[in-house]
Amino acid sequence: MSTSSPANETPAALTSAQAPSARSRVRRVAENANYERETLYAIIDAAYVCHIAFTDPHGTHCIPTACWREGQHLYIHGSNGSRMVKRMLDGAQVCVTITHIDGLVLARSAFNHSMNYRSCMIYGQFEALVETADKRSSMDAFMHKIAPGREHEARPGNAKELAATTVLRIPLDEAACKLRRGPPVDDAQDQGLPVWAGVLPLQQFQAPPIAASDNVVAAPDYVRQWHRSEER
Ligand SMILES: Cc1cc2nc3c(=O)[nH]c(=O)nc-3n(C[C@H](O)[C@H](O)[C@H](O)COP(=O)(O)OP(=O)(O)OC[C@H]3O[C@@H](n4cnc5c(N)ncnc54)[C@H](O)[C@@H]3O)c2cc1C
Repeated sequence: MSTSSPANETPAALTSAQAPSARSRVRRVAENANYERETLYAIIDAAYVCHIAFTDPHGTHCIPTACWREGQHLYIHGSNGSRMVKRMLDGAQVCVTITHIDGLVLARSAFNHSMNYRSCMIYGQFEALVETADKRSSMDAFMHKIAPGREHEARPGNAKELAATTVLRIPLDEAACKLRRGPPVDDAQDQGLPVWAGVLPLQQFQAPPIAASDNVVAAPDYVRQWHRSEER
């Protein structure tokens, strides 16, 4: 599988502003780059999980963790004792990535196979929320992302739970997005080959909710409205 040549990374035909820094500028297949905030926000808002890469004396790590966006920051949370949280509090430089796969791109030649995707990479440092009220408000925003309105229903975190939790945020100032859409791009000499060519689309669906066996409460709106057949 290759996604590294211009031939098999069809331009996403999106307008792009300038890269915010040298290290965030897409060089490889730069026509698929996008630096618009709206694009970045859409990729983050469609995700429940990001991957955070950082180093410590033991080496390089890349940790999946839940995320959400508030304004111009991406937020994460974790136990005060987590290695990742400790490194973030130390001011570690990080690279955060999010990837959505939209399809498998089947070309006539093996090397022109690709994937349709939307991805982003965010560089910088996390900072911790200090005020308990800010932590509580941000955890509410996280709950709201999972199920809008549930932040008013679930038992709020108590003082002990909040104290044991670190909420961190990174500014969305230094980031790049890269997107591929469309059909396979075969070399001219391969286009007549008797091999099926096209895209196998991939979508994320909201499946029917599964109530807990001991649930005694009628499903609220956000549960009843969860099951949809269209793409998220
Ligand atoms: C689902 C998926 C599958 C992929 N499969 C392959 C594969 O099999 N082989 C392969 O070589 N590449 C693959 N890619 C592309 C890969 O992510 C890189 O873009 C590519 O390898 C070039 O890396 P680079 O460091 O040389 O890029 P450069 O262009 O040198 O990177 C410079 C900067 O561009 C930005 N950037 C680069 N890539 C991305 C990205 N994907 N999303 C957001 N910002 C980015 C970052 O800010 C980065 O620091 C895949 C991407 C996705 C999303």
